[in-house]
Amino acid sequence: MIRILLTNDDGIFSEGLAQCFEALSSIGEVWVFAPDRERSASSHSLTLEHPLRAVEIKNHWYAVSGTPTDCVNLGVLHFMKKNPPSLIVSGINFGINIGDDVTYSGTVSATFEASILGLAGVAISQEMGMEVDLKRTASLAARLILFMHQKELLKEGKIFNINFPKENPKGIRFCNLGKRHYEESIEENVDPRGKKYFWIGGAPLPSKPEKGTDFEALLKGEISITPLHLDLTDYEVLKSCKSLEGEILDILK
Ligand code: MN
Repeated sequence: MIRILLTNDDGIFSEGLAQCFEALSSIGEVWVFAPDRERSASSHSLTLEHPLRAVEIKNHWYAVSGTPTDCVNLGVLHFMKKNPPSLIVSGINFGINIGDDVTYSGTVSATFEASILGLAGVAISQEMGMEVDLKRTASLAARLILFMHQKELLKEGKIFNINFPKENPKGIRFCNLGKRHYEESIEENVDPRGKKYFWIGGAPLPSKPEKGTDFEALLKGEISITPLHLDLTDYEVLKSCKSLEGEILDILK
């Protein structure tokens, strides 16, 4: 049995979380730590300015007054401390998390925290559409996670971002993150009290996805799996800057 901490960013009452719990319970012992309200696009934020509450709403299900990152921390470092999980699963998120958007994602960020804590992490997101069947996705995700566990892919600190297409998957693709193109726009409007407000928005622009990306996989109706890591270093630029160290030292004299 895999010991699993399950979280999400859609909140503890999300259908995706419930279905994921059901399916994962067949392959492991699952504890749930999820935000008590929706925290989508909360990124990798940690609550340090005020206290956190964790209410056990049923056995091993905790509603946390914080972000997905808070949930992982509370679960691993406190409530499950005596017998910690080896795997953090985050999802099933309503809506895809692909390309550049993973940097906003609370769902994916929970796995970043897993990696920092030396655990394996899997983020699961569902493309929305008329044919979406979360029960089917949860069942496929559990089987996929068990397979990855058996193949020893879910090692300490290793994380994977998985997206399911809206229809019954036509295939599965290991792929890299693509580039998303938005029409960048801020909507300006006036509220009922006559005060201006702004809404960050912008519909995704139709674009031809680059080959080998998660965009392409989903467009083809396939499951996308992208291994991620937390090292944001640009090694190419680093290499080209190294020789400048002496010159910089001179101008700083
Ligand atoms: Mn979400």
